Formats: sequence, structure tokens, C-alpha cells
Amino acid sequence: MTISGKTRVVALIGHPVAHSLSPGMHNAAFERMGLDYCYVAFDVPPALLRDAVAGVRALELEGLNVTVPHKEAVMPFLDTIDSEAAFIGAVNTVVKQGAKLVGHNTDGRGFMRSLGEKGIEPAGKKVLVVGAGGAARAISYYLCVEAASLALFDLDRPKAERLAADLKDVRGVEVPVPERLEESLPGADMVINATPLGLHPGEDPLPFSPREGQVVGDLIYVETPLQREAARLGCEVFNGLGMLLWQGVLASALWTGREPPHDVMLRALREGLR
Ligand code: NAP
Repeated sequence: MTISGKTRVVALIGHPVAHSLSPGMHNAAFERMGLDYCYVAFDVPPALLRDAVAGVRALELEGLNVTVPHKEAVMPFLDTIDSEAAFIGAVNTVVKQGAKLVGHNTDGRGFMRSLGEKGIEPAGKKVLVVGAGGAARAISYYLCVEAASLALFDLDRPKAERLAADLKDVRGVEVPVPERLEESLPGADMVINATPLGLHPGEDPLPFSPREGQVVGDLIYVETPLQREAARLGCEVFNGLGMLLWQGVLASALWTGREPPHDVMLRALREGLR
């Protein structure tokens, strides 16, 4: 990659960002596509978020990825938020359109593309999502219409009830919120961990105990005890690496107008994880 006076810049903003796999993934794609773009990561403390977005305008960056803790806080500083990001209440991708900055969220569509690529079909399945935070909102937006049924469980029940009410309003779908996990777990065909449990393998309990015959998904993109336990039981198991990949594929297409090479991006992600 040669940086010139014409190179267009896309950036990740978050706090911290040093661990991010996104620069490697996106730069590999830009290079393979022969595009004069580069992707850099900026560590932006929360108090400087407004200034950072002003800087995006002043420096005419092509776009942004936005990660923790700015996904919600960035929204008031943008000109337009698309309907999906508005529903999720968080933006992970910003695109410069003329003088305007438009906020999108590619997590839910990325998740669905990752299922499609693996040949995992929510249609006809009873799906249970455990956790009702931002990631659960993104995937539920699609699962509530694609699956035979969707149920939501969160330790913070009012949070799950708010998501269910929003899904009813926006998607017209009734989503039950069981009081106890055991009410929905045994009958579910597919159960998805949308909590952070598993990020600290020595300390975290399993978010749920999988059953034989279930499809078990984990939005965490590294191997976790839940994934190992589900595999031991012979369950079909997927993790969040596909979601991470495909949200990036969709973001790249929004910035450049071209479908990036997902195989190149996956290889870069795997190299980053090593
Ligand atoms: P979040 O906003 O913190 O939401 C997680 C939710 O799970 C919270 O409501 C939390 O409740 C709840 N929870 C915690 N422990 C629980 C338990 N034992 N049972 C039921 N609910 C429980 O996090 P997020 O941003 O949605 O992210 C969730 C996970 O998805 C993280 O591991 C993240 O790394 C992953 N993720 C992956 C991708 C990808 O591309 N692969 C993208 C986004 C997120 P409290 O708030 O009360 O603790």
C-alpha cells in the first residue's frame, strides 16, 4: 500500500482501539481491490468524542467505524441515522455523503450474512437470545421476522421487555420475555449468547447450559467454554467471527460502493487473532 496525497482515509474510533482486528481486515481488502484507501484506528476518550467527529468533517474522512464506548454517544453528532441504527440505538459505521455524516449499524445484517454463509437457517426454528444489550438488539431486528419464534432473556428483565416492546412496535412481532431462562431454554432449537460471558473463561459461568440437538451461537469471536461445551454435546456451534467479518464487509461496501473480498478479510482476521 502506498500512501499518497490522494489517499482516502477511513478510521475506527473507540477507547481503547489498540487490540482491534479491523485495520488489518479493511486494509487487506482495500489493497486487494486496488483502492487508494487506508484504514487507521484512533483512541478517542469520551470527553473528546465531539471534537473527534468535528475532525472527521474538517479532514474529510470517507467514513468511520465506531466501537465501544462511542456507539451510542456518537449519534447526536451525526446528520442522519438510518432506521436500523435508530432501532438498535447504536451506530457502528459512518459514511460521508457529500457534506453529511450518515450513521448505520451493520451488526445485524452482518450476523444474518454470517448465518447464511454457514448454511444455518433461522426459518422454522424457535430461537432464544440470551442478553438484551446492543448486540442482541441488532440480531433480534432480523431474527424476530426470520425465525419461527424469538424469545429474549436478560438478567435485567425490564431491558429485555423494552427490546420486546420495540420489536412489537417496529417489526410488528410479539416476542416473549420469560422470567426464568429454564422456561424457554429446553424448547429452543437455536440459542444465542449475546452476553459478554465467556470473555473471561476462568471466571465467567456459562451463560446457559446447552442441550443436545440445539444450534448454539455465541457472539464472542474467540473460543469460549460455552462453545466447547456445545461442541462436546454434538451441537452445531458458531461463534461471532462471522458476524465480525460480515459487519466489516457491509461497512466497506458502504464506504467504497464495492463488494470487498470477504475471503481476504477473513484471512486477515485469522492472522490478527494469531
Ligand atoms: P451489552 O450491551 O453489555 O449487553 C449484554 C447484556 O447481557 C446486558 O444487558 C447484560 O445485563 C446481559 N447479561 C449479562 N449476563 C447475563 C446472564 N448471565 N444472563 C442474561 N443476561 C446477561 O453487550 P453487547 O454490546 O450487546 O455485546 C454482547 C456480546 O456480543 C459481547 O460479548 C460482545 O463482545 C459481542 N459482540 C460481538 C460482535 C461481533 O461482531 N462478533 C459485535 C457486537 C458485540 P447487565 O447489563 O445487567 O449486565
